[in-house]
Amino acid sequence: LKALSAYQQLAERHARLSRLGYFHQLSEWDQRTHMPPAGAATKARAHSELASLLHGLATDPGLDDLLARTRDEALDDWQRANVQEIQRRRALSRELPAALVSRHQIAVGTCNAAWMPARRSNDWPAFAATLAPVVAVLREEALCQGEALGVSRYDALLQRWERGTTTARLRRLFAQVSGWLPEMVQHALARQRDEVVLVPTGPFPVAEQAALCQRIMFALGLDPASARLDVSPHPFVTSGSPQDVRLTNRYDEAALMPALRSLVHEAGHGSYRQGSPAEWAEQPLGEPASAAMDEGQALFFERHIGMRPAFSTWLAPQLGQAFGDQPAFDAENLARLALRVRPGKLRTAADELTYPAHVILRFEIERALIDGEIEVADIPAWWDEHMRRLLGIDTRGDFRDGPLQDMHWPDGGFGYFPSYLLGAMTAAQLAASAERDLGSLDGHIAQGDFAPITGWLGNQVWSQASRFEPDELLQRCTGSTLDPEFLRRHLAQRYLGRAPSTTPKAVNP
Ligand SMILES: [Zn+2]
Repeated sequence: LKALSAYQQLAERHARLSRLGYFHQLSEWDQRTHMPPAGAATKARAHSELASLLHGLATDPGLDDLLARTRDEALDDWQRANVQEIQRRRALSRELPAALVSRHQIAVGTCNAAWMPARRSNDWPAFAATLAPVVAVLREEALCQGEALGVSRYDALLQRWERGTTTARLRRLFAQVSGWLPEMVQHALARQRDEVVLVPTGPFPVAEQAALCQRIMFALGLDPASARLDVSPHPFVTSGSPQDVRLTNRYDEAALMPALRSLVHEAGHGSYRQGSPAEWAEQPLGEPASAAMDEGQALFFERHIGMRPAFSTWLAPQLGQAFGDQPAFDAENLARLALRVRPGKLRTAADELTYPAHVILRFEIERALIDGEIEVADIPAWWDEHMRRLLGIDTRGDFRDGPLQDMHWPDGGFGYFPSYLLGAMTAAQLAASAERDLGSLDGHIAQGDFAPITGWLGNQVWSQASRFEPDELLQRCTGSTLDPEFLRRHLAQRYLGRAPSTTPKAVNP
C-alpha cells in the first residue's frame, strides 16, 4: 500500500478539525434555537473545552513539516489553493495563546447569555459589563495576530472575514458610497412623499408565517432533505455540510413582511452552502470565499430577487391564500412597500438605501473600540452621534434599538459588519452580470421559476467555494473586481428611476 502523501495527511488533519468544529457549530445553533437560558454557563464551558482541543490540533507543530513537504508534491489548483488557505489559517491560530482561546469562549458565552435579557429591559450597563471582557479578549487576540502580520489590531480581525482587506480599503470604498448616498436618499424620499402604501394588518399567526416561509425557501431551491427552518431571536444560517443547512427566522404576529424578507435573505446564505462542492466540505476551500461573498449571495436573494416587483407578483396570491385577502396584498402595493425608504433605528429592518449608514456606523465604532481609541462605555454616545449625522435620528436612552440590537459584538464577531456593505456591492455587481447573461430576471421571478438564477449563481459562485480570492472570483464572473459603481447604478435605477450619468465611473480600488 502506498504511503499517504503529505497533502493527504494535511487534508485529513483539517478534516478532523472540521468534524469537531461541526459539533461546535451545532451547539451554537442549539443555544440560539432550543437551549433553555440557564444552560448558557454549561455550554460556555463545553465550548471552551472544545475550542482548546481544536486550537491544539490547529497549532500542532507537526503541521509545519507536512506543509513544507507539500511543496514538492504534484498538486492540482484546488489542492494548492487549499494548502495556501490551511497555511494562512495556521499562521493566524499559532499567534493565539491557548489560555486566550478558552477565555474567548467564556467571555463570549457570558455576554451572549446577558444580551437577550439586557435587550428586553433596555439595560445597557448590565450588558456593557459583559461586553467589556469580550472586547478585552478580542483586543489581545488582535494584538497577537496584528503584530505577526504587521498590521493594526482591527486589520488583524478583518482577516477572519475578508482575506487581505484593510481598514484603508474599506474607508476608500465606503467613502465612495457616502459621497452619493445622502443625496440619493433625499431624492428617493421626495419621490415617495405622496405615495400611498398599505402595510398588511395582522394578526399573522406564527405557525402560518413559518409554514409560508418554509414553502418559499423550498421554492427558492433549498432541498427539503438537506435544509430546515427553526426560530431564533436573530435569523442566521448554520451549516455542517451542503447536506445539513439550517436556517432560522423570527416572527412577529403583528407584522408579516419582515419575516418574509429575512427568510429570503437567509435562503441566499443557505443556497450558497447547499451549492458548494460536497467533496470539499471538510476543507477550508469548501467554505464561502469570504463573509462579503456570503452576504453577497444573501443580499442577491433579498434585493435582486425578493425586492423586485416581479417577486411581489409571485408572492401576492400566496399571501391571500395563507392569511385571507386584504387590499395591502395587492401585488403593486407589495412592490411599493418593499421599496419604501424610511430612515430608522434598526439595521435589519432598514431599507436598501439607508442600510449602508447602519454598516458605516458600526464599522467606525468597532474599529475605534478594537484599536483602543474608545471604550465600551463610549459606545452609546458614539452611536447617537453617528445616527444623528448619518440618518438624522436621535437614539438617546434607547439602547434596545441602539447598540443592543445586534448579536455580532456579544458573539465576538468584530470585523464582520463591513461585510454587509461589501456584500451589497457584490450582490449588485453579480445581479448586473446575471442579467447580462440571462436577460431580464423578472419573467422567471414572476413565475416562481428561480432555477435559471440559482443555476447561474451556482455555476459562477457557489460551486467555486473558496477556490479564488473574492476579487478574483468577481473578476471571473463579472469582468471586474469589486466596484461600488454597480451598487450606485442599481440604486439609482431602482429609487430614482434612472441611472445618472453625471457621476464619473468609479476607479477600481
Ligand atoms: Zn446575512
